[in-house]
Amino acid sequence: MTSVRTKITFTYFLISVLIISTLGILFSLEIERYYFDRLLGNLHTETKVLSAILHEGNGGAVQRGEKEKEMNAIALASMMRITLVDSSGTVLYDSSVPDSLLHTLENHGQRPEIVDARKAGTGSNERTSRTISHDLLYVARQIDLVEGPPAVYPNLQFIRVSVELTDVNKIMYEIRFKIVLAAIVVLILVIIASQVIARRLSNPIVEIGDMVKEIKAGNLDQKLPVRSQDEIGRLAALINEMTDRLKSDIEQMKKLERVRTEFLGNVSHELRTPIFSLKGFLETLIDGAIDDKSVNRAFVEKAYHHANRLDGLLTDLIEISRIESGEMKMSFRYFDVSSWSKQLTSDFADIAAKKKQKVVAEVLDREILVLGDKDRLKQAVGNIIDNAIKYSSEGATTVVRLEETEGKISLSVADMGPGIEPEHLPRIFERFYRVDKARSREVGGTGLGLAIVKHIVEAHGSKIVVTSEIGKGTSFSFELKK
Ligand code: ADP
Repeated sequence: MTSVRTKITFTYFLISVLIISTLGILFSLEIERYYFDRLLGNLHTETKVLSAILHEGNGGAVQRGEKEKEMNAIALASMMRITLVDSSGTVLYDSSVPDSLLHTLENHGQRPEIVDARKAGTGSNERTSRTISHDLLYVARQIDLVEGPPAVYPNLQFIRVSVELTDVNKIMYEIRFKIVLAAIVVLILVIIASQVIARRLSNPIVEIGDMVKEIKAGNLDQKLPVRSQDEIGRLAALINEMTDRLKSDIEQMKKLERVRTEFLGNVSHELRTPIFSLKGFLETLIDGAIDDKSVNRAFVEKAYHHANRLDGLLTDLIEISRIESGEMKMSFRYFDVSSWSKQLTSDFADIAAKKKQKVVAEVLDREILVLGDKDRLKQAVGNIIDNAIKYSSEGATTVVRLEETEGKISLSVADMGPGIEPEHLPRIFERFYRVDKARSREVGGTGLGLAIVKHIVEAHGSKIVVTSEIGKGTSFSFELKK
């Protein structure tokens, strides 16, 4: 019994057998008792009728013969045996024994029904007859003591009637047979019904089992039909939800894995260029250029430049991996963004001056407190200003501006650079994405600056917005909470 279906069918079958057999037994016992009681009642009535018949008329030898005829007819018609017994137990008349043989019958005084009738007026007994060896039911009645014996039988004390139980038994067998037949039919119906119910219950479980097997094998594209609102239906819905979740988790994981591999490829590629150049200059120097006064200094300087680039790249890489792994914790405090902006702009004055550029802060001359990590924000806004200077030409001015809006401060950095084509705008915050690779390298870019900016701004619950116009300039802005 391994399957749920067999278990359910077997349980239904067992319960039905118990109920049907209990009911069947009770029913047939009840019917049997009813039949028997009715028969007994009839026989009692019969003794009363016989007593009445015997008491009719004046009596005498002539009448006795008539009465016997009448009794013989009654016995024959109702398939009954009638016996008249006197007080000593002697049989006076018996419908199934000729008068001439009456004297051969044994004394009936000790028959149980006679004994009872002597004590209580009536008596009955069921037994196998010694005379005809059949099951018989006997009912005896004592002649009414007040009324006295009839004139035709002055010594009469007991009227006894008996019937063979064979007929009753036959009826009982028939009834039992019908009950058993009905029980078998009901059982067959129960088995069929329980099969149907079991299948309806077990099918969804089998489906769920198959589905779990599929999930185990990695197939998450299947869906279970939810056919009901019961526990099984809810389980199916839950499994569907779970596979959906699993599917999107796996997709997310795959995407992350792809990004990681791509990043690793990019990093290797980015590292290779400066290392390659560095090696090249060093090799040339070793191969003799070190003694060539006209080039040796220039080569060493170039090697140093590439080492510097490598350093910048690694610094940015370490930074971005610290941010992305969540290792870098922000510490939010209120600080005066006005003086902070002025300080930051002046930090870049020298770098800008080298390119004959200017960086100015357009801020209100009062304290404005905002919530944020000022060191991280310095790094972010610094990267934006750095880009503005890098990508702008001589004579350009970069403006750092603070504007107050409701509950917030908007910080923007606008340059007079070449601008960025609209199709590149959504991608410039991706790691290693550059509009012009050669130009970026030339100005010492790593391709990671804006990715770091985006992370820091988002960690402040804000969003970096960029607008740009080709030939006019680019503006980066974001908001800070006051
Ligand atoms: P990079 O180190 O190359 O500057 P960033 O992540 O800082 O990397 O910037 C990504 C790219 O966006 C740059 O390569 C450049 O093409 C473009 N970019 C960034 N800032 C500016 C700007 N102010 N003006 C024009 N282009 C810019």
